[in-house]
Amino acid sequence: LSSSQTANFSASYAELGAFFSRAIAPTPVAAPQWIAWNVELANKLGLSGLTQDEALDIFSGNECPSWAHPIAQAYAGHQFGHFVPQLGDGRAVLLTELTTREPKAMFDLQLKGSGPTPFSRGGDGRSALGPVLREYLVSEAMHALGVPTTRALAAIATGEWVYRDEALPGAVFTRVAQSHIRVGTFQYAAVHGGPEHVKILADYVIARHFPALLEIKPDTLRYRQFFHSVVQAQMKLVAEWQRVGFIHGVMNTDNTSICGDTIDYGPCAFMDVFRRNQTFSSIDRHGRYRYENQPRIAHWNMARFAETLLPLIHKNESDAVTHLTALLQNFEQDYQSVWLQCMARKFGIGVTENSDTQARIHNLIEQFLTWLEVNERDFTCSFTALTDCYLYHTEITADLICTALEADPNDEVLTQWIDEWLSHLSTQQSEQITERMTHANPRRIPRNHQIAAAIFEAEHDGDLSRFHRLLRAWASPYADIEEFRDLEQPPAPDQQVTRTFC
Ligand code: AMP
Ligand code: MG
Ligand code: MG
Repeated sequence: LSSSQTANFSASYAELGAFFSRAIAPTPVAAPQWIAWNVELANKLGLSGLTQDEALDIFSGNECPSWAHPIAQAYAGHQFGHFVPQLGDGRAVLLTELTTREPKAMFDLQLKGSGPTPFSRGGDGRSALGPVLREYLVSEAMHALGVPTTRALAAIATGEWVYRDEALPGAVFTRVAQSHIRVGTFQYAAVHGGPEHVKILADYVIARHFPALLEIKPDTLRYRQFFHSVVQAQMKLVAEWQRVGFIHGVMNTDNTSICGDTIDYGPCAFMDVFRRNQTFSSIDRHGRYRYENQPRIAHWNMARFAETLLPLIHKNESDAVTHLTALLQNFEQDYQSVWLQCMARKFGIGVTENSDTQARIHNLIEQFLTWLEVNERDFTCSFTALTDCYLYHTEITADLICTALEADPNDEVLTQWIDEWLSHLSTQQSEQITERMTHANPRRIPRNHQIAAAIFEAEHDGDLSRFHRLLRAWASPYADIEEFRDLEQPPAPDQQVTRTFC
């Protein structure tokens, strides 16, 4: 970085040795052109010293700067329940790691769609423009929503075509992540290496992501605590997805980040109408990754993670199994309480220790969700309606809430539910109610039809104006902004997107 040496680069993952990654430079592209550069993130990373031309060359893969140390990372993974021993970065290279000063934090900079690697398995190593725009929009929206996620630093058109079912314009995406280490990375170490390799990886991850655990002795206890921390992060993540109506779509173990960030925005989608069995992904034929199943899949993925750690937990395998099984046994119950905390805020309610009250709040939430489902209501708009009752009215009545929800005032299921809700709220402070609801209920989420329109216009007319407008609108999803009111609207029947693709 020529003009300002504020960024501090490293290659610690490459230094773990050739077992974990392969050196590979990005393949240059014909005619790079800017789609988007995330100025705020670049500043945060200490990259503001790069000129636009330098950044264009570097993040298209055309120029490999002296501070880069490009590698493709090896990983395995369970895809839709089936184990694939070798996956790896087939269309991505980790360009460098970078440590920021204040706060001190390490990030990976990864180019996605930067050409073939030793893990491409016959693929072209490239990305089409559409998925790049989608990941840019959705990952930045997730960040603004407060959901742990990888981020978008740059999107650059390549001036080349990629061939899928049709010829599509190509693009390179720069992803910023706390790391790209996955459950599948541990599976790779366990299957192709052995306990020593798993130990190297676990020690690396603990130092990088969970340094507070370094002090714990003996080792076996530290690894158990490490497992526990990863599980906690997954629970928190999935509860946040449920809160905003996000369906990841491909919760394979290779797409499960160890640090608990959302990673790999493929056929992901936000729900419009609330349906517990909603899936969008065209490849998820049996609904394995449907909305209501996400917590169960996270649990399953954590069991696969546990299997890789067995040799670190105890010399005796059956004792190790006992320890890890005990840690996993409480998953459902622990998840329920994380979910309850998260969802109760949508209704303005703070959860206390009292288990009877918790059970009542739990019912309150499920009953409202069922009302939404039975009445085919939009998830996001319905919560905005509840929030606005509190935000814009001093006196809250059942009639007001029915009107806000566009519901029949004689709907007994709803009016009984409203009575119950109001009785909960009468125990809460009104500023706290408003505070919780306005920070838990986004007004604008990245809706499929809006993303589809932005991609269509970019692909067919080279018009990025809708993409940039959505990017701005979704940067503050909780704020009531006049200019962006139209984006709160759910899709009209003929606008609905019911299938998404990788
Ligand atoms: P994903 O479905 O995005 O999780 O990707 C699964 C695997 O397929 C990963 O190992 C990717 O690197 C690889 N992959 C996906 N698309 C391509 C491509 N166009 N070229 C090479 N490898 C790819
Ligand atoms: Mg993936
Ligand atoms: Mg993907």
